[in-house]
Amino acid sequence: MKTWIPDARNFAYLNWKQVEALPKESTLLVLPTAAIEQHGPHMPLATDTLINNVLLGRALQLLPDEMPVYALPPICYGKSNEHIGFPGTLSVSSATFMAVLRDIGASVAAAGFRKLVLYNTHGGNASLVDVMARDLRAEFGLRTFSMFGSAGAVFEGLNPQERKYGFHAGELETAFLLATTPELIDTKAYTVNYIARIEDDTLLQPENGAANFAWLTRDIAESGVLGDPRPATAENGERWIASAAKQIAAALEAMFRYENNYKP
Ligand SMILES: [Zn+2]
Repeated sequence: MKTWIPDARNFAYLNWKQVEALPKESTLLVLPTAAIEQHGPHMPLATDTLINNVLLGRALQLLPDEMPVYALPPICYGKSNEHIGFPGTLSVSSATFMAVLRDIGASVAAAGFRKLVLYNTHGGNASLVDVMARDLRAEFGLRTFSMFGSAGAVFEGLNPQERKYGFHAGELETAFLLATTPELIDTKAYTVNYIARIEDDTLLQPENGAANFAWLTRDIAESGVLGDPRPATAENGERWIASAAKQIAAALEAMFRYENNYKP
């Protein structure tokens, strides 16, 4: 898999003596979590994994050299059962996903590290990542953080419908990859589907509402796309990557400096 993580920040490129010498109290380790799953007929299975790597890699490039922040190899397999029935989706169960996070957390804590960031770019993993951030804090005393996608960056020029309901393989994700791996995008295979419209005043939401309905992609979109990729451009993708990277770098700096003032 291609990587945008700077070599000097790639944890797996270190040897054990170099790891032993790291300042354990302050070093921030980032564990990427993503997916290998269908992204419509126009995008690769690795979309969420590539986007994770691009955004994190670009963010790491912005950090001061002396700040010890390292990217762990990603957990590429996620909980993707919303995309079952589409060839190529490789999903693990929630129990497996959480067990892997727990075991990596155990290894990190056993090596003496204190701070771990779970950086997730697949919506289907999000609630599990939040659960595990707390569990790793409780079980190993790790100072854990979770961060999703673009860490709240606002994308100029993305319309409100796409911003709210462009869940999957829509304009944003397509633009990200047009800017980075255009050879993997089939621009002639775009399809459009939305799970809901912003002008509909519905009580039940697909996500993040007070009352939600559980969905499977095949209930909504035969092509596997939830959004509208047609307006995507490489230029917007590059601008949006730059703003996401800035926001993620700021969040990583805040995590690096974070101290819990509460002392029992
Ligand atoms: Zn995706």
